[in-house]
Amino acid sequence: MSEVVAFIGLGRMGGPMAARLVAAGHRVLGHDLVPELLAAAVGRGVEAAASAAGAAAEADVVVTMLPTGRHVLALYRDEGLLAAARPGTLFLDCSTIAVADARAAHEAARAAGHRALDAPVSGGVVGAEAGTLTFMAGGGAEEFARAEPLLSAMGARAVHCGDAGAGQAAKICNNMILGISMIAVSEAFVLGESLGLSHQALYDVASASSGQCWALTTNCPVPGPVPASPANRDYRPGFSAPLMAKDLRLAADAARAGGVAAELGLRAAQLYAEFAEGEGAEQDFSGIVRALRQRPAPPAETPTATDQNGTPT
Ligand code: NAD
Repeated sequence: MSEVVAFIGLGRMGGPMAARLVAAGHRVLGHDLVPELLAAAVGRGVEAAASAAGAAAEADVVVTMLPTGRHVLALYRDEGLLAAARPGTLFLDCSTIAVADARAAHEAARAAGHRALDAPVSGGVVGAEAGTLTFMAGGGAEEFARAEPLLSAMGARAVHCGDAGAGQAAKICNNMILGISMIAVSEAFVLGESLGLSHQALYDVASASSGQCWALTTNCPVPGPVPASPANRDYRPGFSAPLMAKDLRLAADAARAGGVAAELGLRAAQLYAEFAEGEGAEQDFSGIVRALRQRPAPPAETPTATDQNGTPT
């Protein structure tokens, strides 16, 4: 069934996602604050809307692909998207935002007589262009079913994770695993270097052993073992360090708010924040291996004196 879709936020992800909806036969009314991005989308079959609210007023579904929860909530409430839309419109937010903001967006949409689904993505710009994104959705089963034809036009897989905010929860938990595992893999390569172990030897062992993970075998942080990894092109993204820092910050905030220790997650958030603010600003997140290599080692531990039973004295 062909739908009228308002698509707000035509940036690196939203531009190609909107183009895929057009290719699937939907009428897409697009809006972005940056005129060049709107013009580029028009070149791919999107119709330019003069305002976000104007697009929403004509739409069956409103898709948002924006930087943060603040942007989503401001559009929904202050810029009048919810007020402009016809009752029963589906509000599909694909941005990565805090779980609490996603829940607030659901509530605001429902209170205005609409339906809502949070559906953040993984797969990056390459996946957005190729239509191979994975969507993680939160909301009611009916809303998920309603959104599914659009999600399958923009991606290869959509998982219904639970109620409002569950898509965002899945996204930040997954990316916390990814951030921690990239640091773990990078530290292992740096330790291996200090022990005289070649990158290839460590890769050959770990990729076929219990150290195997995506950060090692797909996005390997050192050049050589995985030819397609960003390390072989001077760490051009890929998945940029600032986006990883953002997702880890969301995970760390959620952990603190929920009283969850997540010690490695919080430390990973700190390390990525420092890296993304400095040399990693334009790099793939695997570039953190270079920053970790430069970090001073902690002071050597003084051996603790013990008695004959090994008990500290
Ligand atoms: P982007 O900055 O390229 O695009 C966001 C767009 O939103 C910009 O073009 C901006 O002008 C527009 N915008 C902001 N406020 C607006 C408003 N009020 N009205 C209209 N347009 C407005 O960002 P992106 O890389 O496309 O990412 C979008 C979201 O997807 C983010 O939440 C990001 O975390 C998430 N994400 C990105 C990637 C990636 O690889 N880039 C991967 C997964 C998830």
